Amino acid sequence: MRERAAEYARAAPGLDAHSLMAGLDEVKLLFMPMGERDGAYDPEHRVIMINSSVRPERQRFTLAHEISHALLLGDDDLLSDLHDAFEGERLEQVIETLCNVGAAAILIPAELMADMLSRFGPTGRALGELSRRADVSASTALYTLAENTDAPVIYAVCAVTRAEREGDEPGNGSGGGKELTVRASSSAPGVKYSLRPGTPIPDDHPVAVALETRLPITGDSYVPFRSGRRMPALVDAFPDRYRVMVSFLLPEKASESARDAQSQAQTSAGAGVLRG
Ligand SMILES: [Zn+2]
Repeated sequence: MRERAAEYARAAPGLDAHSLMAGLDEVKLLFMPMGERDGAYDPEHRVIMINSSVRPERQRFTLAHEISHALLLGDDDLLSDLHDAFEGERLEQVIETLCNVGAAAILIPAELMADMLSRFGPTGRALGELSRRADVSASTALYTLAENTDAPVIYAVCAVTRAEREGDEPGNGSGGGKELTVRASSSAPGVKYSLRPGTPIPDDHPVAVALETRLPITGDSYVPFRSGRRMPALVDAFPDRYRVMVSFLLPEKASESARDAQSQAQTSAGAGVLRG
């Protein structure tokens, strides 16, 4: 799906809505209010409908998602493989996930990704720049960047959320009950650790300081796991309006043990073989 979608995007004259439609023969594009739905593809009437009442960035992602549906329906081999492997609700879920993968592949060109990684390294800054330049949401950029990162990195998008703690009353001077938390997170392949959405960021952590000062910060710090465990990491915190794009580069030891755990099923040769 990813290759098909990327190939489709490469052939398109551009990545705006009009250009993206060029590869689909006689499919019409309609923008209309659609209530709860983001969009739909009607293969019978060959129409892609996009909800016009959501923000433009989301409309663009939806368009790429619906184009992926159209590409999938045009790919008999992939379609029959899917129908052989899954059925019912699970099949629907797999198709939706595939179309999101396709959408990311359409909107984030491989060259741009490679360029961001070589210029900024696997950092919070690379995440912020990729999201801005590809004009996709931070979470779309997050998953794609993580998949393409070789180093042992955990990426996260952090933002302030209103804490809904019991007993908090409005206007009681408790600071408004706002809390900086992880909104979305994704780890590079082979990294066994991940940060759950909702994980709070301590006030003195570089991520909180970057948001407060609006200045990017890079330095030795830690991953603030929900359990309270603090794993040492090189943190790059890149503030972007009300959010912070973050990378946690784990020490080689942690990543080696992650790799060891993964490879144990395949080899009993020990850790020495994995170096080099
Ligand atoms: Zn869909």
